Amino acid sequence: MREFELLQHIYDANPSLSPSVTLPPGDDMGALRLSGHNILVTVDQIADQVHFDLKTTSLERIARKAITRNLSDVAAMAARPVGAVCAAALPRSMSSVDATRLFDAMRQTAQHYACPLFGGDTTLWDNPLLLSVTVLAEPWPGIAPVLRSGAKPGDVVCVTGALGGSLEPIQRDNRQYIHHLDFEPRVELARLLAERVTLHAMIDISDGLGRDLAHIARASHVSASIFANQLPISPAAKQAAARLNVPPWARAISDGEDYELCFTLSSPDAQKLPESILGVPITRIGQIGPAAIHPVLLQVDDKQIDVSDRGWEHST
Ligand SMILES: [Mg+2]
Repeated sequence: MREFELLQHIYDANPSLSPSVTLPPGDDMGALRLSGHNILVTVDQIADQVHFDLKTTSLERIARKAITRNLSDVAAMAARPVGAVCAAALPRSMSSVDATRLFDAMRQTAQHYACPLFGGDTTLWDNPLLLSVTVLAEPWPGIAPVLRSGAKPGDVVCVTGALGGSLEPIQRDNRQYIHHLDFEPRVELARLLAERVTLHAMIDISDGLGRDLAHIARASHVSASIFANQLPISPAAKQAAARLNVPPWARAISDGEDYELCFTLSSPDAQKLPESILGVPITRIGQIGPAAIHPVLLQVDDKQIDVSDRGWEHST
């Protein structure tokens, strides 16, 4: 089963959803209107041997990632996290001391991002550790959630931070840094962006830039052209590319788990963007055009490459 086909099956049921569902499946979060309030919801799970290796990764890092992955989806909507719950399936071999460490670290991370862990459920089983976290959010005052479907021809495409190499350990501030575990979710950055300019469409880059920008292009019925020589490429991606003898842009386009934001906005609004916000670079990487056969084309020297399906997908 491919993840995309399963998701399509879920989307096909959208027309029969209750009117209280204001954002159906297909964005980084769904939304409900409850007692006059808009509530956004996302759920995400991480599993030992799929998203981390329990033998070589500290419980604190695993717990942090379980929360921050969801917060990255909150950032993608430019929303405000309000609380989290966690369903954990713990291997029977895990000690109660370790289980407590795990939950303490999740609680501390959630608290750090003003998103308290306020409930959950645990079960013991004979399989690897599995953490499923649901985060609830609400719109920031005066800021409507930003969807994938609002990109318009003529828009500028931008990304935050630097891309690629999320699995590659690098030395940073005298410690080992592995981006997919240690990244900073862009919740506050998204709010500051949305206050400054009108964001037409946004997504967090979890499956790789090519694939995630294609999600925006398809949802918005447009296409995107981006430029290899404008991509912000992380030091880890350059390191991995050198080792694998591939061009660095290939890692920046296709590596997953960047958890950076990719967004589109009008050209006049793009002029108002600073070079960085909260110390995180904001980089223009291309523009939006009318719908086309190839949702995302990458210009490399004098060639154009279809990078729409370059990315990372779970398969079961
Ligand atoms: Mg996402």
